[in-house]
Amino acid sequence: MVRIHERRRISRTWKRTLVPRVDEYINNISRSLKGYDVLRCTDTSAEVEHNGKRWAVNLAEKTCTCREWQIKGIPCIHGATFIASIRNARWEEYVDPYFTVTKFKETYAGEIAAMPSNHEWKKCDLGYKMLPPLIKRPPGRPRKCRIKPSDEPKKKSNKCSRCGLPGHHINTCKNDVPVYHGEEIHNMQAGERVKKKSRAKRWTCSTSFFQILMDDDI
Ligand SMILES: [Zn+2]
Ligand SMILES: [Zn+2]
Repeated sequence: MVRIHERRRISRTWKRTLVPRVDEYINNISRSLKGYDVLRCTDTSAEVEHNGKRWAVNLAEKTCTCREWQIKGIPCIHGATFIASIRNARWEEYVDPYFTVTKFKETYAGEIAAMPSNHEWKKCDLGYKMLPPLIKRPPGRPRKCRIKPSDEPKKKSNKCSRCGLPGHHINTCKNDVPVYHGEEIHNMQAGERVKKKSRAKRWTCSTSFFQILMDDDI
C-alpha cells in the first residue's frame, strides 16, 4: 500500500515519455557505439558489424539476431547503433510500451483501501465453536527412504581392496585371501593403501604366523 503510493507519487514528477531508468540506459548505450558499423539493407533492416562479427537488425519487428532486444524489450547495442544512424530517431518508438511512464502510472493506479487493525473488529456470537479438523493418521509406517527416479545413476558399490570382491569394505572383510602372509607384508611395505585398523589386524595375523613358524622350529 505504502509502496504503491510512493511509486504513484514519484511517477507524477516524471515529465518524459520513458521511465528514468530506460532513459539512462539509452543515454549510456548511445555513448558506447564506437566501432559498430551499420550496413543498411532497407529502411528498417540492416546488418551491424563489430570486430568481424555481424548481427541482423529489424526495426519494424524490433528484433536483433543476438535476441537481447526481443527478451528485454529495449534495443540492444546493435539495434541502438541502427537507431542512432537514423536522423531524428524517436527512441521511445523502439522501446516496449511497458517502459513508458503512462504504463507505469497505469500499473500503480489502483488503490488499496486503508484498514483498521483487529482491535476494531466487531465481536459476534456464531452459536458454535470452530475447532481444527480431525486428522486420521494413515496406516503403515512413514517412509524413510527416498523414492529414487528410474534414471538416477546407481551408486557404485564399494570394492574390497583385500579380496577384490564388491559389496564390502576391507575392515569388514571375512573372505579368505589366496596369497601368502609374506606377500601381504611385502605389499604393505611397498606402500599399499591400507587403513590403520586393517594393518593392525594383518600384523596380528602375520605375527601369529611367524609365531607358529618359530614354535615349529622349536
Ligand atoms: Zn543485438
Ligand atoms: Zn574383502
